[in-house]
Amino acid sequence: MRQKIVVGNWKMNNTIAESSALASELVAALGKGFSGCEVGIAPTYVALQEAGKIIAGSAVQLVAQNCHYENDGAFTGEISTGMLKAVGCSYVIIGHSERRQFFGETNATVNLRIKKALAEGLKVILCVGETLAERESEVTSKVVTSQVTEGLAGISDISTVVIAYEPVWAIGTGKTASSAQAEEVHLLIRNTITKLYGDAAAGKLRIQYGGSVKPSNAAELFAMPNIDGGLIGGASLNAADFAAIIKAAS
Ligand code: PEP
Repeated sequence: MRQKIVVGNWKMNNTIAESSALASELVAALGKGFSGCEVGIAPTYVALQEAGKIIAGSAVQLVAQNCHYENDGAFTGEISTGMLKAVGCSYVIIGHSERRQFFGETNATVNLRIKKALAEGLKVILCVGETLAERESEVTSKVVTSQVTEGLAGISDISTVVIAYEPVWAIGTGKTASSAQAEEVHLLIRNTITKLYGDAAAGKLRIQYGGSVKPSNAAELFAMPNIDGGLIGGASLNAADFAAIIKAAS
């Protein structure tokens, strides 16, 4: 049995004060002793420290939205794995479609970042997913397979990697992939991992779905055999909605 994992990606939202308030509301909404599934929140970098203090001792883990592959130096606007670890992050999201789309992230840079995060002991959420044009040109399977294969190139141990399948056309658009559409790609990802790492590693790999997950559609998505939780954008900015999604995975 794979333990489900639900992570809220707050993106470029919330001041430090707003992040702390949202983190407090979430901890309260989940209730003391919650252990239904793995849970994380990914505030902005400036809010990590304060949000981390609020969630300390709760079931909620601190997640970063990205990391660089060098230790330090002249990389304006970037953040290092050491900085993220020092502030208490346990996971880092790498290769989110917004990073790929707006900030020039490629499978090669995603791979460098993943290698660095794993080497430094951070767990990784690798995001993959096709654009609408790619889906319509029927290259979803080719695109997702390359993102997985190239993103993980040269990595021998994926026991601390989670993959998030996030069809770009479903992110922040209100359009959710149907549970059948999502399951089809999740199975493809698991089969790709079987080819690369064998049955045991593929059987243990958690594959999250992301793309307009809401309290109303979460349970159906999470009931699919190869969907092991969610990476949640918009709905994670509301504690009650996010808690409802987490409970649907529990
Ligand atoms: C995301 O960006 O990871 C995401 C899934 O966003 P949303 O839930 O808003 O579609």
